[in-house]
Amino acid sequence: MRLRKLVAGNWKMHGISSDLAEIEQIASAARGYPQVDVALCVPAVLIERAVRAVPEFPIGGQDVHHAERGAHTGCTSAGMLLDAGAVLTIVGHSERRDSQRESNAEVQAKAHAALQCGLNVILCIGESLAVRERGDAVETVLAQLDASIPQAPTEEAELAIAYEPIWAIGSGKTPTTDEIAEMHGAIRERLKQRYGGEGERVRILYGGSVKPSNAGEIFAVADVDGALVGGASLKAADFMPIVEAAANAG
Ligand code: PEP
Repeated sequence: MRLRKLVAGNWKMHGISSDLAEIEQIASAARGYPQVDVALCVPAVLIERAVRAVPEFPIGGQDVHHAERGAHTGCTSAGMLLDAGAVLTIVGHSERRDSQRESNAEVQAKAHAALQCGLNVILCIGESLAVRERGDAVETVLAQLDASIPQAPTEEAELAIAYEPIWAIGSGKTPTTDEIAEMHGAIRERLKQRYGGEGERVRILYGGSVKPSNAGEIFAVADVDGALVGGASLKAADFMPIVEAAANAG
C-alpha cells in the first residue's frame, strides 16, 4: 500500500526565538508540497511560540512523560504538549534511550499516553553499529519494536515508526538501500502481525543522515513512508529539497 509521505524534522536541542524565522520559512515553503505531510519537532520551550508563528503548520515535541501529572521534575506531559499547541511528539529517540536510559517499556508507556491524549507519535527504533556488524540488526530491531509499540492502534491519533540505525544518526553514514528495504519490509510484516490490516497503514519513516543528496533514493525504497530528519531540518535550504524529494517519490 502506498502511503502519503511524512517528513518530520527533529531540531533536538537547537532553536530559540531568533530561529522562528526559519520555522516560518519552512512552513511557508511546505505549502508548496500539499501531497507531503511536513512537521517540525522543536524544543518544548519553543513549541508555543512556534505554533503562534505558524498556526497552520504541525509542530511537535521531542519527548513526553507517560504520567498525566505529578512529581516529575523537568518532565512534560502529553496534555502539556497539547496545551502548548503541539500535534505530535517523538518518543524513544536513541539519544534519549541512551542518555536517559529509557527502556522499551517506558517508551511504550510514553507512546500510549501521547496517543490516548490525541498526540500523533513518531516512535524510534534502531540498532547499534555492533549489532549491525554482528548480523543481528533485523532481529534486534523487531524485538525493540515488539516491546516498544502500544498494544493496539488508537483512533484518537496516529502512530508512525521511525527506523533510525544509531550509527547513521549525525554520522553522514547510511545503510544501503537494500538494507533499508530489508528492515522496513520486516517492520511492515511485524506491524501487520500485530495490528492486522491497520498495520498496513502505519507509516514507517527512515532516519539517519538523510540529506538532499540521498533523499530521493531512500524515498524510492519500498515501505519507506517518509523520513525523520535531524541536522538537515534546521535550515529550509537543506530541509525543503528533502520534502521535494518526498513529493517526487509520490
Ligand atoms: C535524528 O536525530 O533523528 C536524525 C535522524 O539525525 P540526523 O538526520 O542528523 O542523522
